[in-house]
Amino acid sequence: MATRGRPTVLDHLYQHRRWRRIRRLQLIAHPLCVICEARGRVTEASICDHAQPHNGDINRFWCGPFVSLCVDCHNSAKRRLELGQRVVWFGLDGLPVVELEPSADAIRQRQEREARSQAYRRRARRRRIPLSELPSRFATPRKDGAA
Ligand SMILES: [Zn+2]
Repeated sequence: MATRGRPTVLDHLYQHRRWRRIRRLQLIAHPLCVICEARGRVTEASICDHAQPHNGDINRFWCGPFVSLCVDCHNSAKRRLELGQRVVWFGLDGLPVVELEPSADAIRQRQEREARSQAYRRRARRRRIPLSELPSRFATPRKDGAA
């Protein structure tokens, strides 16, 4: 699908006959959700998903690679992976059972996003206002009584 909620220039192609055919063949060849399968679950897939985001690249849009996913995995685990986050499932004993690692690309993009937002927060914080210019209600009264 498109990059998680953000529309791309290729979104109209999901209505295309050729896409519907690709989707149908993918789901016939691989009818089970691959993420559920990794967790030892058997779930019917209903989504033909681009294994790597196509990012508007028409060749990757049509040629894949594709994976079959169920709606739940598509909207949760797959989304986390594309945001550069790990996905871990824990067993009843509290130990991790299955871990999925995001791609190197997704990790790099997340680090870039974090760096940008940190730089933004640093800039926002760096407004230096001398104490004398603060309204007096913010100034701590001095103990010796001088103003
Ligand atoms: Zn699934």
